Amino acid sequence: MKIENPLLLDWATPFNTPPFEIINTSHFKPAIEEAISIAEKEIREINDNTDLPTFKNTVEKLEMAGDKLGRITSVLFNLNNAETTKDLQKITQEVSPLLTRFSNDITLNARLFNRIAEVYKTREVSGLGTEEKILTEKKYRNFILGGAALREENRTRFREITEELAMRSLRFEENVLEETNAFELHITNENDLDGLPERVIEMAVMEAKNRNKKGWVFTLHFPSYVPFMQYSSKRKLREKMLKAYSSRAFKKNTNDNRENVQKIVNLRLELAKLLGFNTYAEMVLGDKMADSPEKVEKFLHDLYKASRPAAFRDFGNIQRQATESGLIGKLQRWDWAYYSEKLKKKLYAIDDEILKPYFMLENVEKAVLGLATKLYGIKFIRNNNIPVYNPEVRTFEVYDNDGSFLAILYTDYHPRQGKSGGAWMTTYRDQKHTGGKETRPLVSIVTNFSRPTESSPSLLSFNELTTFLHEFGHSLHAILTRCTYESLSGTSVAHDFVELPSQFMENFAYEKEWLDTWAIHYITGEKIPQEIIAKIKAASVFNEGYACYRQLSFGFLDMAWHTLTDPVKTEVDAFEEEAMKKTELFPYVPGLNLSVAFGHIFAGGYAAGYYGYKWAEVLDADAFSYFTETGIFNRETAMSFRRNILEKGGTKNPLDLFIQFRGREPSIDPLLIRSGLKR
Ligand SMILES: [Zn+2]
Repeated sequence: MKIENPLLLDWATPFNTPPFEIINTSHFKPAIEEAISIAEKEIREINDNTDLPTFKNTVEKLEMAGDKLGRITSVLFNLNNAETTKDLQKITQEVSPLLTRFSNDITLNARLFNRIAEVYKTREVSGLGTEEKILTEKKYRNFILGGAALREENRTRFREITEELAMRSLRFEENVLEETNAFELHITNENDLDGLPERVIEMAVMEAKNRNKKGWVFTLHFPSYVPFMQYSSKRKLREKMLKAYSSRAFKKNTNDNRENVQKIVNLRLELAKLLGFNTYAEMVLGDKMADSPEKVEKFLHDLYKASRPAAFRDFGNIQRQATESGLIGKLQRWDWAYYSEKLKKKLYAIDDEILKPYFMLENVEKAVLGLATKLYGIKFIRNNNIPVYNPEVRTFEVYDNDGSFLAILYTDYHPRQGKSGGAWMTTYRDQKHTGGKETRPLVSIVTNFSRPTESSPSLLSFNELTTFLHEFGHSLHAILTRCTYESLSGTSVAHDFVELPSQFMENFAYEKEWLDTWAIHYITGEKIPQEIIAKIKAASVFNEGYACYRQLSFGFLDMAWHTLTDPVKTEVDAFEEEAMKKTELFPYVPGLNLSVAFGHIFAGGYAAGYYGYKWAEVLDADAFSYFTETGIFNRETAMSFRRNILEKGGTKNPLDLFIQFRGREPSIDPLLIRSGLKR
C-alpha cells in the first residue's frame, strides 16, 4: 500500500498549520512532483476553455492554480533557511530545476499568454476594479518577463538561463553559509580576551564546549563576531576576524563565489537583453516606485551629496579617537567598530553592555507585540499546540479588536547550525479571499539573537531590538492584510515599498514614551533611567553620516553590477573596487571582497533593488514624522496607517497609498533631520 504523503493531504492541525512533526525530508520531492502535475491540470483547464478570455475565467483562475504546490514549496524553502540539513539542501537543489521548468512551462505557454494578453489589452474598458486591473497587469508583466513574447528560437536559451541562475543563486548562498561555519577563532590564552565583556566571554566558553575544545571560540556569526569587533583590544585578532569575515567565498577553494558572481551577472544581462531591455536594472525596476535606473541613480546621488560631508566628519572623528587612544597610523577597517564603540561610550556613556540588561528577550517580545495592541488593537495569544519544526519555536494566535482571527505568528529567535545568518520574516501561507472563503496567513519571524548563557537570560543589544521591531513590522504587513488575491496581499508589494512597514517600526526604539512602558533591568527590576533614554536618542545620530554613506556604497555596487550593458570580463575584485571607489574611506586591503558574500543581490531578491532600503527610509521617516506630530500612540493616525498601508498590500499604486496616509508626496527632509544631516 502506498504510504500517504503528509505534504499532499489536508492538514488536520490547529489552523491548518504545517504538521512539521510528521513531515520527512523524503516527502518533499514526490509531493512537489505530484503538486506540479495537479497545477498543470488546473492550467490545462484554463486553456481548454472555449469561451472568450475574461478576467474571471483566465486571470483569476491562473491566480488560484498551483495552490498545493505553493503550500509545499513554502515549507521546503522556509525550512531550508531556518533548519537545514545536508539532505534538505540536496532536495532543494534537486527540485529547484523542476520548479523553474514548471514556471517556465506556464509563462512560455503561448495559448495561455494569448488569453492573458487579451484580458490585459481590454483591461481599461472591461469594467475591472482597481485590484483586478493591477492583478492583470502583474500577471501580464510576469509573462513578459517569463519570456512569453519570445520568438521560438530564443526560448530554449531563455529556459537554460533561468535554470542556471536558480542553481547558481542557491550554490552562492550555500557557499557563504559553509564559509561562515568553517572559520573559528580559538583562543587559549586568557590575555587575548582583553576588552571583551563577561557575557561575550561566556558565550565563547559555551561555543568552545560545544566543539569539545578548551578555552574560547569566536565565530563569524553575528552574535559572536560583532561584539568581538566592538570590544576586543587585540588589534591583530580583530584584523584576523575581519579578514576571515570579508574573505568568505573569496579564497579560491571549492566555496569560492567569484565565478558565480560573474556568471550570475552575465546571465542576468543576457536574460534582460533577450527580453528587450538594455540592462538588468531596467528590467527589474519597471514596476517599482523608482521605475528606472536613472531615478535610482539620481536618488542615490542626491543622498550621497547630502551625506558626504557628514561621512568625512564621522571618519575623522573615529580616526582622532583612535590616535588619541594610541593607534599609530591610519585607521583600518578592523578598527572602525572598536574605536566607534569607544567614542560612542565617551560621548554618550552608553554601550550595548549598559543597555542589554534592560532588553531581556522575554520583556522585548511582550513589549513589541504589545505595541501592536496599543496601535492597532490586535491581540496575541500563546498556543503551544501548534506544530513547530524546532522546540525553540514559539507560536501565537493573533486576533483583531473585535475578536476575529487574523493570523498565526511563529517566532524563532536563536542561532543554530543549519539556520542562515541574519533575520527575516516569512510566511507559510498568505492571506487571500477567493472562492467566497477568507484564508488567513501563517507568519514567521526568524532571527539570530544572542542565546541565554549559564548566568543570564537572552539579553538583546539595541541593534537586536531594532531588528526585532523591523521583522515584526514586516509581519504586521502580512498579518493585517485584507486583500482578495494572494499575489497582491501582505508584503507582495513593490520592492522599494516593502521596507516601509518594517523600518517604520524601528522608530519606536528611540521613543521615551514607549521604552518607559516596559524596559526594566532584568535583575533589579529598575526602570530604564531617563538619562539612558536621552542618550539613546542623542546617540542615534552618531556615525549616521558614515552609515548612510556605507548603505549608499552597497547601492552603488548593486547598480554597477546590474546596469552593465556588456558582459563583465573584469575580475570581481577590480570591478568592485572601481564601483565603490567614490565611497571608500579605508585603505585598500587585498584579499577582501564584498560581492562574493552579498547574498541580498546574488542569492536574494534585491538585485538592482538594494537602494530600496534607503528609499524606504525616506518613506518611513516621513510616515513616522506624522506620528510624532500627532502623538506616537495616536489611534487615529495608527488606524490610518493600518487602513491605507498595512491592509492594502499591493492592491494600489504605492505612491497613492502613501499620499492617502500622509496627505502629500514623500519628502526627503524628515530622513535628513532624523539622521542629523540637516537641521
Ligand atoms: Zn526588511
